[in-house]
Amino acid sequence: MSFLSFVEGLADDFVTSQENSSAGLLSGSKAPSNVDTSFGTNAKKVFELDPNATPEELEDYYAAINYLLKNSETFRKLYQKMLTSGRMVYITFNDDRGESRFDTKGGKNTIIWDRDAAVHVGTKNKNQNAALGLAHEFGHFAQVIDGYFLYMKYRPRENDNLKKWETPIAKELGLPFRDSYLDGYMIRTKLGDPTSTVAQQ
Ligand SMILES: [Zn+2]
Repeated sequence: MSFLSFVEGLADDFVTSQENSSAGLLSGSKAPSNVDTSFGTNAKKVFELDPNATPEELEDYYAAINYLLKNSETFRKLYQKMLTSGRMVYITFNDDRGESRFDTKGGKNTIIWDRDAAVHVGTKNKNQNAALGLAHEFGHFAQVIDGYFLYMKYRPRENDNLKKWETPIAKELGLPFRDSYLDGYMIRTKLGDPTSTVAQQ
């Protein structure tokens, strides 16, 4: 099996996992014939998707994961780290907030992903995309796994996330990277394509 088909198998597992959940929002299951079942089992243990997510939100989520797995070596490492962590993360959506975030309220690791929010990088005068925003929040989950998320102050924690995860992934995706966490501001990108760097009009 090629590495890419292995990666595609992992992404298929997200779909299969959701289809097997009580939400049952997606149809047209792809047979996960090339999924390593040990990884598949782990993915189901790690990623808990909001059962109230809309089909559009889930479609964008899978599109973002596929794009990140296919194009970023660093994201593949990040993803594998999560799969083997023995930890869980709950993923929910907020289409109107204009930013994504991660928190550990109530001891529950939660990513709130805004599928059309991205960073406009000030020093480059260019936009990132919403998929990279999702990868950024995964980076915070990695900080939990590594045991220091709760012990770092806000800004050093953000800059640590940039250095370890966001910036290497941005470079691999051919996107602009931030010189620091404050290098830029949030914008809305084209809805329905988390890989888009085009700002909404
Ligand atoms: Zn952050």
